[in-house]
Amino acid sequence: MNIERTPPLQTKLPAVGTTIFTVMSALAAEKNAVNLGQGFPDFDCDPKLTAAVTNAMAKGLNQYPPMTGVPALREAVAAKVEALYGRRYDPASEITITAGATQAIITAILAVVRPGDEVIVLEPCYDSYVPNIELAGGTVVRVPLTPGTFRPDFGKIAAALTPRTRAIVVNSPHNPSGTVWSRADMLKLQEILAPTDVFAISDEVYEHMVFDGQPHESMARYPGLAARAFIVSSFGKTYHVTGWKVGYVAAPAVLTTEFRKVHQTNVFTVNTPMQHGLATYMADPAPYVELPAFYQRKRDIFREGLARTRLRLLPTEGTYFQSVDISQVSDKNEADFCKWLTTELGVAAIPLSAFYGDGFDQRVVRFCFAKKDETLRTALDRLAKL
Ligand code: PMP
Ligand code: GLN
Repeated sequence: MNIERTPPLQTKLPAVGTTIFTVMSALAAEKNAVNLGQGFPDFDCDPKLTAAVTNAMAKGLNQYPPMTGVPALREAVAAKVEALYGRRYDPASEITITAGATQAIITAILAVVRPGDEVIVLEPCYDSYVPNIELAGGTVVRVPLTPGTFRPDFGKIAAALTPRTRAIVVNSPHNPSGTVWSRADMLKLQEILAPTDVFAISDEVYEHMVFDGQPHESMARYPGLAARAFIVSSFGKTYHVTGWKVGYVAAPAVLTTEFRKVHQTNVFTVNTPMQHGLATYMADPAPYVELPAFYQRKRDIFREGLARTRLRLLPTEGTYFQSVDISQVSDKNEADFCKWLTTELGVAAIPLSAFYGDGFDQRVVRFCFAKKDETLRTALDRLAKL
């Protein structure tokens, strides 16, 4: 008998491979390409933020924090949400600090989704949602955003609701398309969900990246949505520290209670000095208040350069992503085009097909413009050949 035999394992996620973000970042590194694929800044955060974290470590704030998060950080989040969106969440019972938005989203899904429940996702969507729902035993119901504009189609959303629908996942500002839901969109969603018992998981990680003077329409602004929503955000996006993996969830107390039951068994707590540093740093609203202007400027530099190519620019109302239609520059499919672009022109991008379950190919790829101006200029010089 072979005692070293590993028992056969039937995968729970047969459709999941290595994420496109990892694949494209590896290819970009191998080919020495400018990496405009995976979404992360190539510049450092504010030194005041690292100083605040260093200070917390030096002061010995290095043991487990409270399970729900450091009180000062929960209070700072509650104050920010109230100031920006007009809804007061109780830091003690309605705000939880998470290990980034990724853990917040899977935790919310595990808290509410039971085997057999249906969960609506709007495609294209961020790649963790579908496996998260499947791990919870839920059935994924894919509703397409309108092809071409990526606007929500409320007729299709309403038609997808059934007595088995447990939740809907919404993401605005939207990765990958850069569209932003309007007040009218939020009111429509509120109206459609009003007669249902459907929960909302609102992925608002790009809340501080909405351009052209438009507001971010957080679910927190809409009582009928807020009452059923887990609102998720990420300090990684807002403060240029994607590697720190700290985020939060705001949800009514009854939802937060269930959320925390899962949270305490899947991470228990989130690292202490980062939380103290973030709490100190949040006392000044300027960094997030000024973020739209900071990224709008980069968006405009990047769009101006791309406008000189045959790539067709899609609108970017928010996020740090710019999508382009490639049909005038190439016959390749999106994934092959991204590989070709990385290898031959030295600029990495992400195919939108990676955000669809069936790999739908509409000849659109996504660039990340959260980069130093010089990085954007190098990329634009290379893309000028198109
Ligand atoms: N949701 C969306 C739409 C994202 O783009 C990201 C960024 N990777 C996340 C969630 C995850 O955020 P975090 O890095 O805080 O886990
Ligand atoms: N949110 C980022 C993106 O969409 C990074 C995702 C990741 O690396 N998993 O590119």
